Amino acid sequence: MKRACDVEVRPSRQSIASRYAGRTVLAIGAHPDDLEIGIGGTLAKLKSEGANVVMCVASIPKDYDVRRVEAKRGADILGCELKILMDGGPKRIEDVKTCDLVGMLDDLVREYQPAAVLTHSNSDFHNDHLLIYNACLPTQRLAYFDFYSYHPTNCRPVPIAFHPNVYVDISDTIDAKMHAISAHGSQFGGRGLDTEMYREFAHIQGRMIGCTYAEGLDVQRMLLA
Ligand SMILES: [Zn+2]
Repeated sequence: MKRACDVEVRPSRQSIASRYAGRTVLAIGAHPDDLEIGIGGTLAKLKSEGANVVMCVASIPKDYDVRRVEAKRGADILGCELKILMDGGPKRIEDVKTCDLVGMLDDLVREYQPAAVLTHSNSDFHNDHLLIYNACLPTQRLAYFDFYSYHPTNCRPVPIAFHPNVYVDISDTIDAKMHAISAHGSQFGGRGLDTEMYREFAHIQGRMIGCTYAEGLDVQRMLLA
C-alpha cells in the first residue's frame, strides 16, 4: 500500500510561454553570461513559443571585443535579441551615476514596453548585480509589467539565501542553456571553470518541483486576471 508521501502528485502547470506569446520580455543582466546562467532555459523557452525576448547586457567591463562576440553568440543560441546598454567600449556599472543608470533603464522600458522584466535579485552578492537590481526597481513606476528576479549568478558555487517562489520547467531547453553558457569561452574554458554545475543546479531545482530541469524565479510583481 502506498503511503501519501510515496504518491507522485505533480502540480498543475500553466505555461509561462503562453502568458508572454506575442509580447516582449526584457531580461536584464549586469554582464555577458549572467542571463544565460540565470535564466537561459527560460529565455529559450519564451522565444521558442512566440515571445519577443530581448537580452540586455548592461556593461562589458573588459575584453570588450571578445565578450561582445560571446554575448551575441549566446543570444543567438537562445534565439534572442541582444542589446548592450553601455555599448561602444569597456565600461563598469559603478562608473555611472545611479540616476543616469536609472535613466538608461527607463529608456529601455519606454523603448520595448515589456510585458515582463527579469533581472538580478537583492540576494546577490556581486555589487554590479545589486546596482542593476536597484536601478531596475524604479522602472516599475513607468508601466505595469510583471517583474521577476532570477537566482544569483556566479562562476563558483557559494551558499546564497535565494528562495524562488515560482519555477519554470526548462527540461526542453536545458541543452540550449548549456550551449549558450559555453559560448562564453573566455569565462569558462579560458579560466578553467566548470559549467556542468549549472546543469546540476537546474536538475536539483527540477527535482524540487517535479520535472527534470527547472529555473527558479522570485516574483516581485505580477497581475493575475
Ligand atoms: Zn555578472
